[in-house]
Amino acid sequence: MNVLQVSAEIFPLLKTGGLADIAGALPGALNAVGCDVRVLLPGFASILADLEAASVLAEVTAPWGERVRVCQGRLSTLGINAYVIDSPHLYHRPGTPYEDERRQPHADNHRRFALLGWVGAQLALGLDAHWQPQVVHSHDWHAGLTSAYMAFLPHRSQRVASVFTVHNLAYQGLFAPSYFYDLGLPHEAFAVNGLEFHGLVSFMKAGLFYADHITTVSPTYAQEIQAPEQGCGLDGLLRTRRTELSGILNAVDEAIWNPAIDRQIGFNYAARNPAGKARCKAAVQQELGLQVQAEAPLFGVVSRLTEQKGLHLLLGTLQAILGRGGQLVVLGTGESALETAFMAQAALHPGVVSVRIGYDETFAHKIFSATDVTLVPSRFEPCGLTQMYGLKYGSLPLVHRVGGLADTVVDCSLEELAEERANGFVFNHFTTQALERAIGRAFALYARKSEWNLVRARGMGQALGWEVAATQYAALYQHLCA
Ligand code: ADP
Repeated sequence: MNVLQVSAEIFPLLKTGGLADIAGALPGALNAVGCDVRVLLPGFASILADLEAASVLAEVTAPWGERVRVCQGRLSTLGINAYVIDSPHLYHRPGTPYEDERRQPHADNHRRFALLGWVGAQLALGLDAHWQPQVVHSHDWHAGLTSAYMAFLPHRSQRVASVFTVHNLAYQGLFAPSYFYDLGLPHEAFAVNGLEFHGLVSFMKAGLFYADHITTVSPTYAQEIQAPEQGCGLDGLLRTRRTELSGILNAVDEAIWNPAIDRQIGFNYAARNPAGKARCKAAVQQELGLQVQAEAPLFGVVSRLTEQKGLHLLLGTLQAILGRGGQLVVLGTGESALETAFMAQAALHPGVVSVRIGYDETFAHKIFSATDVTLVPSRFEPCGLTQMYGLKYGSLPLVHRVGGLADTVVDCSLEELAEERANGFVFNHFTTQALERAIGRAFALYARKSEWNLVRARGMGQALGWEVAATQYAALYQHLCA
């Protein structure tokens, strides 16, 4: 089964969030279950630099008339075959892949990412005479136009199936209607039954409307987005497509997120030999200027600092942690109001709260290794990876019961403890009171060392690798191609 994966990011070459982790792990996992996966990526500098044995596959003309080169080769870091769109003037810019240094979206984002979909569709049409995809699997709004272009391709004898995965419905890729004329799609596409969304062009809706099948990154999120509260205005469309919509839970790349072999943490450890974890904790407490206290429960946050992540609730419940002798470490970047608020807490509580604003992959690993609890109080969460990293590293996740958090964390209630299912702490209502009570439960369990250790060992031993998800994706591809 030949599968072309289309995404804007890929770990470790370019990452702004969980999308990159998944785009980086899925090809290898799918290859392991018998697929032949190639990836298509925009030519951001770090991606082009990693492409070895590169050659020009073709020059294509973008719908707005610009000529661009499509290169092919092998991503040396990942060992996977790749097509990369080589257009420095579109992709070599300061800032993030989506925003400039002032955090404003690039003015030509519609072209930068339409091109990704356009080239994806050209590959479906046979741009590479030596490799023909049977399935084109695109991810999030950046790649959403792929399915639309494929839907309007000239008729082909061999049908190529399209799959679109929603990693976060809240980011939709909306553009002014005038930009539609750049996209080279027929007029009929700019309609309610198409990619039009309240008068705007929606790349997300293009993926949702035109793909043969839609997946999201957890079964619960697949249900939640069919209702108005989390449907972001697209729940009606998602309800009409519910028979072609499914949730496949994300997983953990255990070659990268495994405390037994992780070279980014101070000391290695495992479920059966957890001694190194205490040493990681002491080292990080020391490094951050926190009081080096083995018995103080250390809570951690590794997150984008956005409203979605529910961290304003945490700011309102900080005393529930500090008042009981706990400590907090935060690593994140995002909205300046949240950055400022967390920095202010660190200044107010030296020795017990440490906040680092920024993006730091190694420090993220260290935090999971050092902390006792990983906080993920998200208002909504399509899947969430950090709670799973917390499980792997023996940092019990404390989460809001929503999306993929609900699918991966089982609360330490008496019943769940008795049935040996508990692996963390879950609160149901998105309120500071509910979060406070969950924090209280974490302290209560922490005081019962042997039970804490049992729950921690259970979480660390959970099978969270990509095999299950890869098998489910492969079965879906087979079904679509049958
Ligand atoms: P989202 O994709 O919504 O940001 P996920 O939990 O799915 O949330 O994935 C977040 C990923 O980004 C994880 O790999 C997490 O470790 C990483 N991450 C988030 N913020 C930072 C940061 N400031 N520094 C390093 N890694 C981060």
